[in-house]
Amino acid sequence: MPKLVTVAVPCPLRRGFDYLWPEELQRQAELGMRVSIPFGPRRLVGVIIATNSSNDIPSSKMKAVLKVLDNKPTLPQDLVRLASWAADYYHHPIGDCVQQMLPVVLRKAEQAKEKPAQYWQCSTQLNQLPPLSTRAHQQRSLLSIIEQSGQLSRRQIKDLGYSNNVLNSLINGGYLAKADAPLANATTAYANKPTLNSEQNVAVNAIAASLGRFDRFLLDGVTGSGKTEVYLRAIEECIARDEQALVLIPEIGLTPQTLHRFEQRFPGNISTLHSGLSDGERLQNWQKIQSGEHKILLGTRSAVFTPFDKLGLIIVDEEHDASYKQQDGWRYSARDIAVKRGSDHGCPVVLGSATPSLDSLHNVAQARYQLLELRERAGGASAPAIRLLDIRDESLNEGLSKSLLDATTRTLDAGNQALIFLNRRGFSPQLQCHSCGWLANCQACDAKMTVHFGRRELRCHHCDASESLPTACPQCHNHQLIFKGPGTERLELSLKHHFPDVPVIRIDRDTTSAKGSMQSLVDDIRTGKPCILVGTQMLAKGHHFPDVTLVGIVDIDGGLFSADFRGPERSGQLLIQVAGRAGRADKLGTVYIQTHCPDHPALQALVNNGYQPFAQQLLAERQLFSLPPISFSAVIRADATTLQGAEEFLTQIRTALPVGDTQWSIVGPLPAPMTRKAGRFRSALILQAERRSVLHGHLHLACHIADQLNKPQNLRWSVDVDPIDLF
Ligand code: ADP
Ligand code: ZN
Ligand code: ZN
Repeated sequence: MPKLVTVAVPCPLRRGFDYLWPEELQRQAELGMRVSIPFGPRRLVGVIIATNSSNDIPSSKMKAVLKVLDNKPTLPQDLVRLASWAADYYHHPIGDCVQQMLPVVLRKAEQAKEKPAQYWQCSTQLNQLPPLSTRAHQQRSLLSIIEQSGQLSRRQIKDLGYSNNVLNSLINGGYLAKADAPLANATTAYANKPTLNSEQNVAVNAIAASLGRFDRFLLDGVTGSGKTEVYLRAIEECIARDEQALVLIPEIGLTPQTLHRFEQRFPGNISTLHSGLSDGERLQNWQKIQSGEHKILLGTRSAVFTPFDKLGLIIVDEEHDASYKQQDGWRYSARDIAVKRGSDHGCPVVLGSATPSLDSLHNVAQARYQLLELRERAGGASAPAIRLLDIRDESLNEGLSKSLLDATTRTLDAGNQALIFLNRRGFSPQLQCHSCGWLANCQACDAKMTVHFGRRELRCHHCDASESLPTACPQCHNHQLIFKGPGTERLELSLKHHFPDVPVIRIDRDTTSAKGSMQSLVDDIRTGKPCILVGTQMLAKGHHFPDVTLVGIVDIDGGLFSADFRGPERSGQLLIQVAGRAGRADKLGTVYIQTHCPDHPALQALVNNGYQPFAQQLLAERQLFSLPPISFSAVIRADATTLQGAEEFLTQIRTALPVGDTQWSIVGPLPAPMTRKAGRFRSALILQAERRSVLHGHLHLACHIADQLNKPQNLRWSVDVDPIDLF
């Protein structure tokens, strides 16, 4: 019998492919090895996902592996098994899953030669050099970090928020010298650790006691309650066992402050993986974790697929964050994969959040997760007071009520900072003709164009189409065009007008798209001088602003009434996260929420009782209607150049499936609320079941049917298991 292997090939088919393993290769096939294989007219790089395979095809009809690209398997066995599991669970082509697990550099046959990173350490002559000027803050702080860490690479220094200029001036002054080889097993500096409070102690002890076995924890603690400190201590315990830790953070959660804190505690022992790295840097960091050279990996979503030498602890910070769910292609949840990996490796998983997802709270209620609570803010700070401002019948000034403006005045007069939150960037969400009623709609979407005044532009936030801002109505040529409703750009202008003597700092995607601009805005704010921050949800993540004592939320109503049943959960989390930016030990914060529906029960629950009871109330509603996380769901989406095209495809799937019963249900095709997006019409089928196995059985069948169907050229479709949005 000739030997066969199964290879995961980067192609859209939902299966692996068998190849002959020729004698000439003169070696054993191993799981996880990369091989070069013929595929149609092309040569591709695939990964072996099974050895000793068998099939009924005569070997004369089969193709053979051309070349083995690895001396030892690139993907360890545990990740090969994880890929197979995930391909099954997410009903996604295994070839693509395996590809996405590999660093980009390894997806190609030719391995790019990488320059090894250059590390810098303090010069041995440091004591003989003149001390740095007291005004050279940046140089002094960088030098002290390098002193503590032993050595840092140029990239690590950049990640910590220092510019090349600062580094170069230290190098040119002779303060730093090249390090020959990276320090092996850098020591852990456990300096400056605060004394844990009793709740933190309970949490750390519980996690430490579970090291060495699979266990799941939800660490529920308000912003500033000391969750990160708990992570750091648990990691310390993990490293003491000579094991490694994986720490996942949301997409923009990896701030220089966070990295700095980890780097200070565990100098020279941290690798990072995030979108700001080059392909070469990603590969290097990946390998440092795989080899065990570094003990801690701090990374965003895809870091969950990094191979570890000895994985001993997994932490998912801000576990409710939507950025853990990939929203196109392979729609995996890094949080859920993290839990799966914990079970595979037999190590504890800690999910932390100030606003836990209903999924995790449900898991606590079902006694699957152990709840660890931090009720107090660390260091004795109090939680901010939250107040609703009823704006019905109030005359608003560019969206701002008099009460909010007065509160801002008082805050600035007291020498503090104010944060005004509106989750809508641009100048105004609508442009309308005052004479004939014409509205600026997007040509390609069922959506309005947003006015960007500074750029004199109309832009669609759904397809990114743009055109110049008209000066007259294209329909009746009247010049009286009106801007309906505010965006952050308009708020910024209006606040500048109201408060001409203080800086108004806007933080949204438009003001932070240039590299490093977010950091320099944050640095301005952290000087502590009175100022007003205006921004979108970017303000709600990662950064803490200790001198902000007033948070004003301009408009929260939208999310409470969204078409998706997850709207209130999302709004509540956002609101509490924004509110959490305010105040510290000696400065009490206040949060004002402008609303047209002050009696809304969910809003009332949130304001009067806080996030936990609010979330429990939402969970009870989900229970009542048997919605996720009580039940399980999946969405099959389709889009095409006509709505009919998308719907016909979905209808064919639906009619080929058995009829729904008490075990499971199917709804649709339902057109998306914004049916047309970027010129394509979108529709969806929603599957729901009480048991996971029932859902997956039907989903498997649905994918099989869909694969067999004759599809028009222009049709695209996708599967989303455990979706976080319906459309
Ligand atoms: P979170 O991650 O929950 O937002 P952090 O761990 O960042 O909270 O803690 C908030 C602040 O309180 C940090 O400045 C941290 O150094 C400090 N802190 C944490 N734990 C303690 C403690 N036990 N005693 C004093 N300060 C603490
Ligand atoms: Zn007009
Ligand atoms: Zn558009």
